[in-house]
Amino acid sequence: FDGPLRWKRVMLKLSGESFAGGDSLGIDPVTVGKLADSIAEAVREGLQVSVVVGGGNMFRGAALSERGMDRARADYMGMLGTVINCLALQDFLEKRGVETRVQTAITMQQVAEPFLPRRAIRHLEKGRVVIFGAGLGSPFFSTDTCAAQRALEIGAEALLKGTKVDGVYDADPRKNPDAVRFDRLEYSEVLARDLAVMDATAISLCKDNGLPIVVFELMGEGNILRAVRGEKIGTLVSP
Ligand code: UDP
Repeated sequence: FDGPLRWKRVMLKLSGESFAGGDSLGIDPVTVGKLADSIAEAVREGLQVSVVVGGGNMFRGAALSERGMDRARADYMGMLGTVINCLALQDFLEKRGVETRVQTAITMQQVAEPFLPRRAIRHLEKGRVVIFGAGLGSPFFSTDTCAAQRALEIGAEALLKGTKVDGVYDADPRKNPDAVRFDRLEYSEVLARDLAVMDATAISLCKDNGLPIVVFELMGEGNILRAVRGEKIGTLVSP
């Protein structure tokens, strides 16, 4: 399959978990290396790629607050964790000859630029991968919501949500062998059936602004490019 690129600029959402490989914590170099290969391949085809990186392999605010921490402070820990993942991805991409910039919502100028949307767009136009860290900089949000918001602000035409399975199912396919996969979904159905795509805040933002979401299996060979070429992989959520 060698179709033309369906979109020129996309937002790729990577969960923190995907950085850990088979482990639940930390960073697995082999896995992050494969992710970087897949992104580099897409960039070489001329795709403008921005990335929002999660932090579930480090800290999740909600989980820490259940164990007694103040929720907002725990969320800041979560946001800082995402930056560690950003730096890892940056390193693996640069080793593959891809130019990158990390921009964070909480300023830390020794390691990253502050989030500046117009500058991010310029980087993308120059073929650099822009990696957004520290979420939205605000507690009580998720990096999925951040991905939707940043996508809209920098003019990405689609949100590519990489997951462990090859799309959205009506039940967890790893637990239920009869689970059925959707090729296409409408935002309202995702919200009404509470399907595991992204949290409701993120879905609502995409719905209100008509931003398409492709949910696809992240580690599948060449899948970023395949999704952008319109190959029928994963699930498309669109108006
Ligand atoms: N977080 C936040 N505001 C944001 C984005 C993230 O407070 O805008 C915190 C929140 O505590 C979250 C953690 O950072 O649990 C890690 O992000 P997330 O859980 O979205 O990561 P993922 O599930 O994608 O690995």
